[in-house]
Amino acid sequence: MSLKTIDPKIFELIKQEEVRQKEVLEMIPSENYTSVAVMEALGSVLTNKYSEGYPRKRYYQGNKIIDSVESLAQERAQKLFGVPYVNVQPYSGSPANAEIYMALLEPLKDKIMGLSIAFGGHLTHGSAVSFSGKYFKTVAYELNEQGLLDYDQILETARAEKPKIIVCGATAYPRIIDFKKFGEIADEVGVLAGSPTYLLADISHIAGLIVAGVHPSPVPFVDIIMTTTHKTLRGPRGAMIMVTEKGLAKDPELSDKIDKAVFPGFQGGPHDNQTAAIAVALEEASLPEFKKYGQQIVKNAKTLADELVKFGFDLISGGTDNHLILIDLTNKKVNGAVGALALEVAGIVINKNAVPKDSMPPFYPSGIRLGTPAITTRGMKEKEMVKIAAWINAVITQVHGEQVPETKEARSAFWKIFRAKVRENESLLKIAGEVKEFCSKYPIS
Ligand SMILES: *Cc1c(COP(=O)(O)O)cnc(C)c1O
Repeated sequence: MSLKTIDPKIFELIKQEEVRQKEVLEMIPSENYTSVAVMEALGSVLTNKYSEGYPRKRYYQGNKIIDSVESLAQERAQKLFGVPYVNVQPYSGSPANAEIYMALLEPLKDKIMGLSIAFGGHLTHGSAVSFSGKYFKTVAYELNEQGLLDYDQILETARAEKPKIIVCGATAYPRIIDFKKFGEIADEVGVLAGSPTYLLADISHIAGLIVAGVHPSPVPFVDIIMTTTHKTLRGPRGAMIMVTEKGLAKDPELSDKIDKAVFPGFQGGPHDNQTAAIAVALEEASLPEFKKYGQQIVKNAKTLADELVKFGFDLISGGTDNHLILIDLTNKKVNGAVGALALEVAGIVINKNAVPKDSMPPFYPSGIRLGTPAITTRGMKEKEMVKIAAWINAVITQVHGEQVPETKEARSAFWKIFRAKVRENESLLKIAGEVKEFCSKYPIS
């Protein structure tokens, strides 16, 4: 029986979401539109199978075909990234990072060093509210005054703290990451500590850019690479853990340790439909068009950044080298939560975000984060970015002066009133109409 017949409620909600995704500018930098081919694999009969274990070493019968699917995904990832080993089973990015720590660290004893969440690191890089900060010792590094990674400072901290693992990678860093420098730091600290210091590159946000050749690859310099598959890579939700030649030279058992940590250490049966969809996304990413796609993501982000600077927006680090832009709205007298909601009302979907040294609480941060992967998938180019920047400026101008009060009680009272008011703002609703009309020219294929 069809979905529409058996469950009209869910059917209708999916339809509504499909329309929403078509009618707005999706500019959350971690989001994308997958291809129809990826979704076909994701919605296939492979979701019915159990296949605990790895190709040709399964705990259940009937896995000959699944073995071929998983092997194909592995071969494609190894070829695309140029690595000797990959595990394609992690359910998503956060479990994948947990699995890496589980493979290499002793809980409550060994230390993780990662970029502070307040400066653009991910929750799983050692934040106190995540398993990474609860079950392991942690030390964080921060960005400098210019909003850039400070490699001398990172080396100094690493020398003093001797972490067992250093994580490089971020969720809100608009510049190129120097993996070579991180590699030198990890190697030096390993020698100092007298045991390996592992370097993990978490390339979740930039994997597609690396494949397209518009961000340097970490492969020669790091030991382990984790990436989600659903961001710039345009695949299904999921993740992969790769081990490099350098990692295997440092620790010949590294890939075995990762495999054991994924299964049986952390997960049960792999999601075989997800594995197949990852294989499809990797095939798509190996095509020449994908290089152009990656190049266009960056060109679009740079154009958007230039235009926003012209309107007087304060961009962290002054601009971007990749797919994302982080804006401090303080000089516009607009709070990040206010800006994000006003933009949503106008059909531009981004997220509020903390900026370096933010004085505001996480729910009302000072900035917003936006990116170009999804709108580039729709075929938008530089000329469209000029238009989008003008809309963003118009929206932020509309809510000028809407600052969030200092005290907690005043904040919730302010928010209630603002939320109701902004949803009826005629100027914003007019922009939403223009955005919808504009988006109709860029079908999601
Ligand atoms: C998105 C992301 C993750 C986590 O991925 P989920 O699939 O949301 O669990 C981990 N690290 C970085 C850097 C990310 O951007």
